[in-house]
Amino acid sequence: MDDATAYAAALASAREGMAEGGIPIGASLLVAGELLAVGRNQRVQLGSSIHHGETNCIENAGRQPASVYARSTIFTTLSPCFMCAGTILLYKIPRVVIGENENFQASEDLLRSHGVEVVVLDDAETKTMPSGSTLTNLNIATEDRYKDKTGEWQSKTTWHRVAIWDAKPHVQQLTKGQRVYVEGSIETREYTGSDGVKKTTTEVKAFSVELLFVPERTARQDARTPQGDSRMGGTPQGAQRGAQGPVTASTFDDLDVPF
Ligand SMILES: [Zn+2]
Repeated sequence: MDDATAYAAALASAREGMAEGGIPIGASLLVAGELLAVGRNQRVQLGSSIHHGETNCIENAGRQPASVYARSTIFTTLSPCFMCAGTILLYKIPRVVIGENENFQASEDLLRSHGVEVVVLDDAETKTMPSGSTLTNLNIATEDRYKDKTGEWQSKTTWHRVAIWDAKPHVQQLTKGQRVYVEGSIETREYTGSDGVKKTTTEVKAFSVELLFVPERTARQDARTPQGDSRMGGTPQGAQRGAQGPVTASTFDDLDVPF
């Protein structure tokens, strides 16, 4: 299983939480390419004070040897709170992939200061250019799996910036975790940043973007589904953030913990 599918499992768990009437925050734990567990916030379902998406996922994984945590990545649909970050640090999980951090962000600097790799998935952006054309940018992940000299499977995730001119609306509305097939050429483009400074970027200029339809599945089914070659596909960091709905600034005004 690759990063994209593991994130999709966290997102699916968040959606299950929403269907249960709970706070829709989900997490998944990937160890050496295998999905070990998923979890979701249980504040409503169990009246729990400590089962957040990440802690519930880690609990569902069962007690594991340190060597398992050392090879793991935790995926979460929302940036971790200090409690979940503390759990991640306690078990020395070296990598955290976060769906979004605009609705909540507290612990990313803390995690990084302890050497944890923190990856935040960005939203797709669509801009209208002076010519009237639109430019949509996505980041997609691809994964290579290979055996190292000791025969252990290793995986390497690479993020690619993709530029799509005049993307169709359904491409602009891709959600995180969906799979896409992209064809294009690698180009280096010069542009002027919002600070007025000229910059260059190397990206895939797409001439074909197709959605690879993945039926809505539960994370458990995902864990059993053999994964095909993901190298030609990837996951866009799409524009929707609906799974995070209830965590809003106004909730914080109550001095209430929103999850
Ligand atoms: Zn938390």
